[in-house]
Amino acid sequence: MIYIFFGILVAMAVLLFAAVIRTFMIKAPAPKKCETEITEEELELCADKLGAMVRVPTVSKNEDEDLSEFYKFHRVLEELFPNVHNAFEKTVLNGTLLYRWKGKDPNKKPILFMGHQDVVPANDHGWKCPAYSGEVIEGALYGRGAMDCKSTMFVELQALEELIGEGFVPPCDIYLEYAINEEIGGDGAASAVRCLKEKGIELAMVIDEGGAVIDRPIAGMDRQYAVIGVTEKGYMDVKITARGKGGHSSTPPRKTPAARLFAFETKSKKSALSKNIFFPKPGKCLNLWRLPSGSECASFSAIYGFSGHFSSG
Ligand SMILES: [Zn+2]
Repeated sequence: MIYIFFGILVAMAVLLFAAVIRTFMIKAPAPKKCETEITEEELELCADKLGAMVRVPTVSKNEDEDLSEFYKFHRVLEELFPNVHNAFEKTVLNGTLLYRWKGKDPNKKPILFMGHQDVVPANDHGWKCPAYSGEVIEGALYGRGAMDCKSTMFVELQALEELIGEGFVPPCDIYLEYAINEEIGGDGAASAVRCLKEKGIELAMVIDEGGAVIDRPIAGMDRQYAVIGVTEKGYMDVKITARGKGGHSSTPPRKTPAARLFAFETKSKKSALSKNIFFPKPGKCLNLWRLPSGSECASFSAIYGFSGHFSSG
């Protein structure tokens, strides 16, 4: 009996040893080089276009505020992407842009690409160049919005500009939606949602801005990764009030309101509330249509599956 036990133990040790050796021997395949045929001139043209977009300081605004910078931005977009503006129908909803390109099959559900025109305010302090200059320094374009998210708008519009130029017609309708107040949880995206809903349009898929291509995102990953976001943190404002009886500071109570507030703050950081993970499920996101405020629609940057287009959440 004891021999069998030792035999099993030795066999397990050998297997474990082999597994460890193999783990260290396995090498990830070399990353494939991204083959692009873009020329220097094309690259410069792209930088010029993105730079022109960055140079309009479209700081987030609510719909009832002065939207003149956004209307200026719309004119810049018309100049930069003439094919898009010829092929697409454009609706302006208090600054928010909603475009539609008719596809071949009207019975196919359309898809929508999202982004936002607005940026958070910036002054020039701490920048390599003025914050809205869109300057190229050592191969990188700098300026507020260059990353979040005029680059998203640019690649979507430029890809469409080129596709239209090649005579491409999409199989289904393509929508574009760019809000003016995503960064402040405003109503821009909600206005677009209402507009689509009024027309009875049900989307097959929404693709919003997402993460960037990140170099070595976590330990053990030794190359660039483009992560597809399928969920995002939510957001909530909570006002906490602690009350206590008055008294003299020479004889404070054991737990002052301030101490209880600090204790609550510390405890809430560890609570499960902040760890709840939301997984979008096919069809479930249609609930977003019913939200009174558009902030959720605007801030969920992810790929959502509508009507069962994705088989898992
Ligand atoms: Zn953004």
